[in-house]
Amino acid sequence: MDTPKGWILGAGMTGLAASYASGVTALEAEAQPGGICRSFHLPSPAGDYRFEVGGGHWVFGGDAVLNRFLGGFGTWRSYQRRSAVYFPESGLRVPYPLQDHLHALGPRLAEKCLAEIRLDRQQSPHTMAEWLEWQFGPTLNELFFGPFHELYTAGLWTRIAPQDSYKSPIDLARIERGARGETPEAAGYNQTFLYPEGGLDSFADALASRGSVQTGARVARIDTGRKTLELSDGRTLSYEWLLSTLPLDAMLRLTGIAVDDAPGQATAVLVVNLGGRRGAHCPSEHWIYVPRSRSGFHRVGFYSNVDRSFLPQGAADRVSLYVERGFPQGAQPSESDCAEYARQVGDELCEWGFLQDVEVCGANWVETAYTWTLPGSRWRETAIARLHAEDIHMSGRYGQWKFQGIADSLRDGLLAGGLLRTPGAR
Ligand SMILES: Cc1cc2nc3c(=O)[nH]c(=O)nc-3n(C[C@H](O)[C@H](O)[C@H](O)COP(=O)(O)OP(=O)(O)OC[C@H]3O[C@@H](n4cnc5c(N)ncnc54)[C@H](O)[C@@H]3O)c2cc1C
Repeated sequence: MDTPKGWILGAGMTGLAASYASGVTALEAEAQPGGICRSFHLPSPAGDYRFEVGGGHWVFGGDAVLNRFLGGFGTWRSYQRRSAVYFPESGLRVPYPLQDHLHALGPRLAEKCLAEIRLDRQQSPHTMAEWLEWQFGPTLNELFFGPFHELYTAGLWTRIAPQDSYKSPIDLARIERGARGETPEAAGYNQTFLYPEGGLDSFADALASRGSVQTGARVARIDTGRKTLELSDGRTLSYEWLLSTLPLDAMLRLTGIAVDDAPGQATAVLVVNLGGRRGAHCPSEHWIYVPRSRSGFHRVGFYSNVDRSFLPQGAADRVSLYVERGFPQGAQPSESDCAEYARQVGDELCEWGFLQDVEVCGANWVETAYTWTLPGSRWRETAIARLHAEDIHMSGRYGQWKFQGIADSLRDGLLAGGLLRTPGAR
């Protein structure tokens, strides 16, 4: 048998798409494909709840062609985003993006925030913290952007470079209309999204069935001189080239390649999934951003506000939700600490009136969830170029160390897979 020319590393959304487009086998460490984009069921006295490993994963940013591609793998439903900023001390919910709805903060505060946003801005901020203060001014920053980003970046926001400004859009005309109490048109990057009728795992499985995936194949070491991969089960595979969707920092460790610049930073997320009877003050949004919480979480999402199919059958008085808390990379709490933390989150959400009780809960750890760069560092570009020089091509959100959703990850995989396909194959 011929030795395969190349391998794809990882069978999350990027690796699955690349395998589909190229026919090349994706080596996946876990027992199932899909990465953090998988749904699963947990039993409760009311019946089975559907949850997701990485918290709610809604597919935004698809264009007509990508949506057509998705449609080839089952039926997808479309939703209009409902999200808000939630202030737990007052119970106030202000539609996202907050800066477009200042009126909801009351006329005096709205006027003050507006005046600060209008300030002349001639600086070029180096860190995310400086950028947020520069863009939104001290009042709005203290009220929301500062404490939210402290939680979301697990404290890194004062050191990392600004990025992803489209998540906090700023348009003075819209902001002024919102401050006057007019409802501005929807803004932001995820106004509509899709979700597969059968759950995200059904999509991952369907995509995997049209490519080639070896599950339980964890890459433990890469010898770039000999062009061999060592798997944790002891097998050695040779390669001519690799398409890797593994996080860029992990690839440097696996290959032993050193990059002499300030290294990229990453944060982990602990996702707590909870189901129970719906509380009297449970929001109707799909997700809410939280600047302060006793348990330290920064976002609560409501699967069942998106689609009832996440609830046990006939349990319309229930709610299923996910809660995200940022951690420094490598700071994974023990199993008992996670269980204790999940209990604290349930208590806090019952106090907020989101839940009446908790019927089922569980926590999942995502080691590399968000990636960041230190100001002025060329680590990312250098690392990608060094690997490329060894015939290792990086693809996807974590491979290329950038923020993006499933749609862009699929596009990356489809493009790379198409370009690496052996001429004449299929
Ligand atoms: C908290 C959170 C919420 C998100 N919400 C959304 C959302 O609502 N909508 C959206 O579109 N996107 C969302 N995303 C982004 C989305 O998860 C990513 O775009 C997508 O998962 C990236 O897929 P990937 O295949 O590149 O990476 P991954 O899913 O990380 O896939 C990499 C694969 O490599 C495998 N692997 C790792 N190490 C090895 C090894 N040594 N050997 C072999 N295999 C290995 C992993 O098991 C995994 O399956 C969210 C991300 C996070 C963190």
